[in-house]
Amino acid sequence: MAYDFDLYVIGAGSGGVRAARFAAGFGAKVAVAESRYLGGTCVNVGCVPKKLLVYGAHFAEDFEQASGFGWSLDEAQFDWPTLIANKDREINRLNGIYRNLLVNSGVTLHEGHASIVDPHTVEINGERFSAKNILIATGGWPQIPEIPGHEHAISSNQAFFLKELPKRVLVVGGGYIAVEFAGIFHGLGAQTTLLYRGELFLRGFDGAVRKHLQEELTKRGMDLQFNADIERIDKQADGSLKVTLKDGRQLEADCVFYATGRRPMLDNLGLENTGVKLDKKGFVEVDELYQTAEPSILALGDVIGRVQLTPVALAEGMAVARRLFKPEQYRPVDYKMIPTAVFSLPNIGTVGLTEEEAREAGHDVQIFESRFRPMKLTLTECQERTLMKLVVDAKTDKVLGCHMVGPDAGEIVQGLAIALKAGATKRDFDETIGVHPTAAEEFVTMRTPVAG
Ligand code: FAD
Ligand code: NDP
Repeated sequence: MAYDFDLYVIGAGSGGVRAARFAAGFGAKVAVAESRYLGGTCVNVGCVPKKLLVYGAHFAEDFEQASGFGWSLDEAQFDWPTLIANKDREINRLNGIYRNLLVNSGVTLHEGHASIVDPHTVEINGERFSAKNILIATGGWPQIPEIPGHEHAISSNQAFFLKELPKRVLVVGGGYIAVEFAGIFHGLGAQTTLLYRGELFLRGFDGAVRKHLQEELTKRGMDLQFNADIERIDKQADGSLKVTLKDGRQLEADCVFYATGRRPMLDNLGLENTGVKLDKKGFVEVDELYQTAEPSILALGDVIGRVQLTPVALAEGMAVARRLFKPEQYRPVDYKMIPTAVFSLPNIGTVGLTEEEAREAGHDVQIFESRFRPMKLTLTECQERTLMKLVVDAKTDKVLGCHMVGPDAGEIVQGLAIALKAGATKRDFDETIGVHPTAAEEFVTMRTPVAG
């Protein structure tokens, strides 16, 4: 049977655009549907605008530290609407680039909400298109628990478009988004509280990293409240919010921001017209080839709930395009050594196993750790310290994990990830000449284990 398209991609986010462009490049006839914004979450309400706001927040400490280097500044002023307007302009520019990328690679772009009518048919804007394969790349959506008054809370989707910087912000959650946005609001001058239901935030990260960040944020004056959860939110006559915690305490805020995870975006997608199955958490279930339970339908990225990171969605997009249209070049995505950064202030950068994971996996573990005051701060009053940590297998000498909390940790860990992926040993690290004077050189000069 002749189909309108070889591949119909639903969602022009990180994974969908990558799969569509490469599939078209391999000679396939491809369409992409997008209901909101070209480039998806990362470009519009994720990585990119977030990083711009983090840069904005970082200036606060730059100004503070400048006097140690002889600079004098009048009192610095910050204007939130300027930052948001400039951010919006940049995102508009990127939307245009994504449009050109798709169109120039021969992909047909359909703007509107797509739904699946049957395993080979997609409906959009009242029109139906047939496709040999359909790719679900619809991403995720913020999830706010339905406590009384949850309608007064915002998520990351709204945070990027607030008209003004709230004076008092309560950030709820202990994952990437909560920690990053608490840093943004705090850096830009809002009185910021981070409220997390567990003992210590960033579950799943190395214990030393979590503790170190807790200490650094506390030093900076951020209010961290762990073992705390919200029971209800009430709007008061003056517009402010009264937040009642489960332990009975009450807090006041002008903005309550929930960052409590993301659900798969499957709204009105028509999955009931297909044999696609969901996993226990409600994400689209796929096999190792991104194949759903419906043979003609594939899925990737946040909607499959594996690793919710843009570079992972990109890699999955590439794998799907190759698998379908260039099988001789197909290589599976390696989920083992995924480097990642939390753009908190200071940053976290990490790759490989945490100490806890390495011990649990039965490795005979050696730990190398270094804590120091970054050189840039020696002429300032700032007491921030950097943490670097290596987790090594004592038997094979392989470096299993690298972890850092400190300036530019995200930048530094990218290179280390290549070394770990190539199987570097601690001896390889030791024999590598440092770049002096940098913080990064500390990763090749840690000689004595702190724990075995
Ligand atoms: P998305 O990028 O979400 O794209 C899905 C697209 O599908 C959307 O454009 C949506 O509008 C569209 N769509 C949905 N349903 C339909 C439909 N029925 N019809 C048509 N179109 C539809 N990752 C990092 O690696 N680094 C970071 O620093 C980082 N920061 C982040 C910060 C925030 C605040 C958030 C929320 C996420 C962040 N992420 C980050 C995660 C990253 O954004 C996601 O992992 C990535 O965007 C997933 O890509 P995707 O292609 O699966 O989905
Ligand atoms: P995460 O899954 O990272 O964190 C969710 C947090 O919310 C956890 O601390 C969790 O607690 C807590 N939580 C979940 N449900 C509730 C609830 N009902 N009540 C109170 N707390 C709750 O999600 P995020 O929303 O922070 O981010 C989504 C994903 O986006 C990330 O996992 C990441 O993959 C990606 N991302 C990546 C970034 C980067 O690369 N720099 C930046 C931002 C996002 P607990 O730990 O106890 O379960």
